[in-house]
Amino acid sequence: MIEITGVTKYYGKFPVLKNCSTSVAKGEVVVVCGPSGSGKSTLIKCVNALEPIQEGSIRVDGVEVNDPQTNLPELRSLVGMVFQNFELFPHLTIENNIMLAQRIVLNRNQQIARTRTMELLERVGMSGHAHKYPGQLSGGQQQRVAIARALAMNPKAMLFDEPTSALDPEMISEVLDVMTSLASEGMTMMVVTHEMGFARRVATRMVFIDQGEIVEDRPTEEFFTARHNPRTEAFLGKIL
Ligand code: ATP
Ligand code: MG
Repeated sequence: MIEITGVTKYYGKFPVLKNCSTSVAKGEVVVVCGPSGSGKSTLIKCVNALEPIQEGSIRVDGVEVNDPQTNLPELRSLVGMVFQNFELFPHLTIENNIMLAQRIVLNRNQQIARTRTMELLERVGMSGHAHKYPGQLSGGQQQRVAIARALAMNPKAMLFDEPTSALDPEMISEVLDVMTSLASEGMTMMVVTHEMGFARRVATRMVFIDQGEIVEDRPTEEFFTARHNPRTEAFLGKIL
């Protein structure tokens, strides 16, 4: 579903990703971890073309992301993205946050978009909040709405960039529970997170990035039990 091959990216002269290759097959959940500044956010931004790459190739469902011919709104509706800080539109109600792109990008009529919105709010445990504004919700609730908004586009894969790291501890599990149920329904997911309990339970593979290089890419159980190179050991030593 997502194939990343030999990707190198620079910010100016600084190589932020160095010859990175990995993939996420249909139905797989790949967790990406690594130290701060290692390039995790950059890697997933490249997948939905929020950042360009200078070398290599990224394909999503067979579509080359960096081909100038690629229709970016279409690509971005193929891969939903959820950010650390929710990024809901503050001046729109929850319902309108979820309806907006359905109306504009998918051309759904009001009634169909609203029905889909209500289904999704139900699914993330947020029905009853449709007419509130983001500022009236807790962080965990806002993040569940952000997930619903991404799902409204019927994406084939979902990208998450530290979706729980801005949340108070008691709200983390309500977001991870939604992600766990998505995974169990077969959603293809690429997740940057330091929630290693979630990773161990839900991920099929673990990718570890350090200084722009993919240092490990292994099945989850092996990642947590096998001997690693010293960079991985140092990182895991700090967070486990
Ligand atoms: P964190 O765990 O702190 O979120 P990260 O692994 O997500 O870190 P990135 O945000 O991908 O790291 O950043 C990787 C490197 O690229 C860092 O050195 C960062 O300072 C640099 N960087 C990120 N965005 C830009 C940008 N827009 N312009 C220039 N440099 C950037
Ligand atoms: Mg980041």
